[in-house]
Amino acid sequence: MITILIRCSDPRINKAVDELLDVEKEYSVIANTGSIKYFLVRDELSNLVEQINILAKGFGANKIILTNHTDCGFYKQLGQDEQTHYLSDLKHVKKFLSETFPQMKVKCYLIDTKLGTKVSV
Ligand SMILES: [Zn+2]
Repeated sequence: MITILIRCSDPRINKAVDELLDVEKEYSVIANTGSIKYFLVRDELSNLVEQINILAKGFGANKIILTNHTDCGFYKQLGQDEQTHYLSDLKHVKKFLSETFPQMKVKCYLIDTKLGTKVSV
C-alpha cells in the first residue's frame, strides 16, 4: 500500500514535505507548479483522477496527501496568493477526491513556506 502525495514543485517546501511523509513507508509524488491549482485552472481534475487511478491499480495506493503552500508562485501569477484561496482549493479538491475514491483516505495540509510549518485542513 502506498500514499500519493500531491504537491507543488517549489523546492522551499521539501523539508516540510519530508516531515509530512515521515511515517509513510512508501509513497508516490504528483508534483506541478501550483499543486492542485495546476489542475483546477485548466479544469483538468480528470487528469489528476487518471494519474491516481494508475497509481491505485498499479501499486494499491490507499491514501492521498494533498498539499498547498503559502507564497506559491503559481497562485501569485493568478493574483490569488491569499490563505483563503489555498484553503478553499484544498477543501474543494479533498471533497472531490473523497467522493471519487471512497476507498482512500484523503488528508490535506497547508504548508507555511517561510516557517516550514503545516496546518491540517
Ligand atoms: Zn508553489
